[in-house]
This record gives sequence, C-alpha cells and structure tokens, in this order.
Amino acid sequence: MWFRRDLRVIDNTALLQAAKHSPQGLIGIFIITPQTWVAHHRAPCQIAFLLKNLQDLSKTLADYNIPLLIRTVPRYDGCAKLLLNIMKEQQCNTLYFNKEYEYDEQQRDNKIIDTLFQLNFFIKAYDDQTIVPPGAIVSKTLQPYQIFTPFKSRWLQYLSVKQNYLAAGKPKIQFKLSLAADLVPSHVKEFNNQFNLSAWPIGTKAAVKRLRQFVKKKVKHYAKHRDFPALSATSELSPYLTLGILSLRQCVTELLKQTSQGTLEGLLTYAGARTWLNELVWREFYKHLIYYFPWVCKKQAFKKETDQLPWSYNQRLFITWCRGQTGYPLVDAAMRCLNQTGWLSNRLRMLVAMFLAKNLLLDWRLGEAYFMEHLLDGDFAANNGGWQWAASTGTDAVPYFRIFNPITQSKKFDPQGKFIRQYCPELAYLDNKKIHQPFRYVKVKELGYPEPIVNLARSRELVVRYFNKLRQINKL
Ligand SMILES: Cc1cc2nc3c(=O)[nH]c(=O)nc-3n(C[C@H](O)[C@H](O)[C@H](O)COP(=O)(O)OP(=O)(O)OC[C@H]3O[C@@H](n4cnc5c(N)ncnc54)[C@H](O)[C@@H]3O)c2cc1C
Repeated sequence: MWFRRDLRVIDNTALLQAAKHSPQGLIGIFIITPQTWVAHHRAPCQIAFLLKNLQDLSKTLADYNIPLLIRTVPRYDGCAKLLLNIMKEQQCNTLYFNKEYEYDEQQRDNKIIDTLFQLNFFIKAYDDQTIVPPGAIVSKTLQPYQIFTPFKSRWLQYLSVKQNYLAAGKPKIQFKLSLAADLVPSHVKEFNNQFNLSAWPIGTKAAVKRLRQFVKKKVKHYAKHRDFPALSATSELSPYLTLGILSLRQCVTELLKQTSQGTLEGLLTYAGARTWLNELVWREFYKHLIYYFPWVCKKQAFKKETDQLPWSYNQRLFITWCRGQTGYPLVDAAMRCLNQTGWLSNRLRMLVAMFLAKNLLLDWRLGEAYFMEHLLDGDFAANNGGWQWAASTGTDAVPYFRIFNPITQSKKFDPQGKFIRQYCPELAYLDNKKIHQPFRYVKVKELGYPEPIVNLARSRELVVRYFNKLRQINKL
C-alpha cells in the first residue's frame, strides 16, 4: 500500500481494500521526493508536519502488523523503479494507492501503472480524496461544471442516490511479517525544520478530536463568525485534510452525528452546518477543476486570455507584500500571521490575494507560489482555485471590478483591531479608529510602520481599465 496524501488508517479506501485482499500480509510505503517537493513549492512547515504525522502513522500501522517503509528518491520520475524493486524484493503482486488528481501526480502514476503492468504486477487505484470522485458528475450537456452552484446541487443529488458520504472503518489486523518498519526521518535536508508545531497536534486521533470540538461548539456560529480573524471561528482542519490525516467523509459523518440528522438534506436546514458543508464542497469543486482543466496545473490561468494582462513583477512591491510592510494594517497583519504560523483564515487569504493581484497588479502566480511555500495546508487545487478566484482569472471567480478595500474590510472584520495588534505590535497603542488607516492620523514612520505603498483608488481604477480593455480585445 503506497501512502501519499492519505496518512490515516481509518476510512482509507485503498488501505481497506489492500487489507481485505492480502492474506499473506501487507506492506506500507511512503516515498520522500525532495526535489519534486521543492519544485512544487512545498512549505518547510508542511514537510515538518508531514514527517511527524508519518511517525504517528507508522506507529498506528504497527498495531495492524503493517510495517511502513520510508524511502527517498529525488523526484517523482524515480518512483516507478523504486516501487518495482521493492515489489520484487518483497514478492508483492499488487500495488494499492489512492488517486491524486494534479497533472504531475497523474503523469507519475501513469508511468508507474505502465511499468508494473508490463511486468505482470497488478495495480489497484481508488478515488478517496473527494467524496464525489472527479469524473463522476457532469452537467446535463455532459460538460464538466465550471460554476460552483450547479456543481454543488449535482454533488448533493449524486450523494442522495449513492449515499457514500459516511466514513468507513478500520482495516482488520494483518498476518504478521518478519519485515521491520523503517525509521521515519526527523527532517529532510532540503527543508528547514525549525517550525513550532505546538498549535497542530499530531495524528488522526487529534484531528478527530479537533473536528468533534468544532462541530459541537463552533459550527452553529460558523456562518456569522468565520470572517472575524480574532474569533478563531473556523475548524482549522485544513492541514489535516490536505495530507489526508482526516477525510472529508469523516467531517460529514461527524456533522450528521452531532446534528442528529440522518441525511445531507436534513443537514442543510442548519445554517452553520450548511455553510461549513458549502466550504467542503468548494474543496471538491477545485479538485474536479484541476482534473478536467489540467492546464491550470501548468501555470496557466483558467481564463487563458487573462494571461495578456500587463501583470507586474516588481520585486520591491512583492517583497513588501511578503513581509507585511504594505502600510495597510490588516493586509500586513495577515501576511505576518502567515509567515509566523503557516496558516490564515479564508477571509484574510482572499484579502491579501486580491491586494496583490488587483492593487499591486503583481502576477497572481507570484502570490500563489509564496502561499504554497508558507502554508501548512498548501494544497495545489485549493490554492490555485483561491488565487484565480481572487485575481478574476479563474472560473466562477470574483468579478474583476469587485475589489476588497483593505480599510473597509479591516473596520468590518477586525473592528477593535485585535488581530492587527497581535501581528503589528507597533500599532498596538492606536485607538480603534486610527488602527485601520494609521497614515491618515499619525506619522507612521515614527512608529516604525511604513506609509502605504499604493493608492487604493488609483490602483483600482487602473486594474478595472486593464480588464475592460481585455474584454474589448477578446470581444467578451
Ligand atoms: C488565495 C487562497 C489560497 C488558498 N489556499 C489554500 C490551500 O493551499 N489549502 C487549503 O486547504 N485551502 C486553501 N484555501 C481555502 C481556505 O482558505 C482554507 O481551506 C481555509 O481557510 C482553511 O481553514 P479551516 O480549515 O479553518 O477552514 P473551514 O472554514 O473550517 O473549512 C473547512 C474545510 O473546507 C475546505 N475549504 C474551506 N474553504 C475553502 C475554499 N475557499 N476553497 C477550498 N476549500 C475550502 C478546507 O479543506 C477547510 O479545511 C485558499 C483560499 C484562498 C482564497
């Protein structure tokens, strides 16, 4: 069983099948591919989190008599040979794994399937990352969905028939093998390991505990509170979902349990639960998009014509944004939070992404890569989807003329400036009025805080003009 981004024992489709069909024992393997991870901008904090969770997985698998091998090849292109050698050495006849849908991952898997199949090995690949598998639902005209709302309706309809949204159980204990598990390395040299993970307890058990607490205490207020960064009102489960330490089915199962609802339709009558489920479906929507429109995995915009926009690559502006030194307090607090913690709420991700693309007119791909390099939950589909939404280059994206104003957002979602004060201590003593736009009231440089790097009204006007021109040229 080849583990990838499905680091759990419970409700793991491929693992359950492998365990069911391996009377002579089952071996687990995880492959570290540092050069590909660097090329994919994987964040050092995510790799540190991954290694800790691998240790936990290895321990749990030992209870099932499944030794976990940990091997390293520089890049994905080395995986086929490595797996082939191990399968020959250990006399395995079938490779089990759960599918991944990004372009590079699909190419890698196709090569492996080709290599093994030609040598008479069996391969069993399962849809597990999403509740509704990519490819399973299309529109009435047999086209992939490009708009979220009809996708979601069809998603719900599909599940009301299939009823396959509940988490499955654990595998049975396996025949004991003489093979020992490998030690999980404490670090991968290409990635700095100095990251404080104390806010992110390790393992599926911890993730389930977090899920239960969220569903029990917070989900009912989710719709109302989720945009207020000082309230920590969201589940903070994304790092677990990204690495498959927790599955989406486990989330839905828990929601149904806690709301005493037997069906998804029933669940939709609860405001908080409905809104949260909506977000889980966004996650699925973006996975379906990368499957059907693989060019987004190759650095191209979903709406290809938007690549004609005069995106800027100004290093000074970019570095200022990265460091949280733009002169707009909520943007700066958010970027500093990302740099320090590896995590950011959705509202703040949208805000800083839109600021980069629409106010600084920087190429959204710069921000996309920066996010991946810093996020604990960096997930290609969700990140690319989020960036293309904010930059209005994606499908079902925010209209190009709708641009969040960082000052208005700040007054609305951090009215007392609590979040700003936490990450911009140089502004901590300003009152609740001044803290949102200090440059209007005080000499910010004397506080050690920068002047705004861009004029909001002028940059807004410029970007709208560019998009209008693009529409004219392309007759949209
Ligand atoms: C520019 C940008 C970049 C993003 N990059 C990532 C990323 O790399 N990895 C990632 O997991 N999410 C990403 N998101 C989506 C979203 O911001 C995070 O999933 C969410 O903030 C995680 O916090 P949470 O677990 O508390 O979410 P909750 O609000 O509790 O939501 C529950 C789960 O639903 C999913 N989800 C929620 N919102 C979205 C969304 N808009 N799109 C897709 N899935 C969603 C996540 O898996 C999340 O854990 C990005 C959004 C934007 C705007």
